[in-house]
Amino acid sequence: MYDQHAAEVSRDRPVHEPTTVERGSFCTARCTCGWSGPARRSRDRARTDAEEHRTTA
Ligand SMILES: [Zn+2]
Repeated sequence: MYDQHAAEVSRDRPVHEPTTVERGSFCTARCTCGWSGPARRSRDRARTDAEEHRTTA
């Protein structure tokens, strides 16, 4: 059984796949939508920025 409504909903959603990019001793969160977070000294902080963006964007 196909659920066309569910397929449409997932297609209309904006794509947000944030990843963390390391630059020297800093780590920055970046997203496929063009968003990028502040440079962080810890990867955990950058990951938190990425998660925050994914849930709030
Ligand atoms: Zn995004």
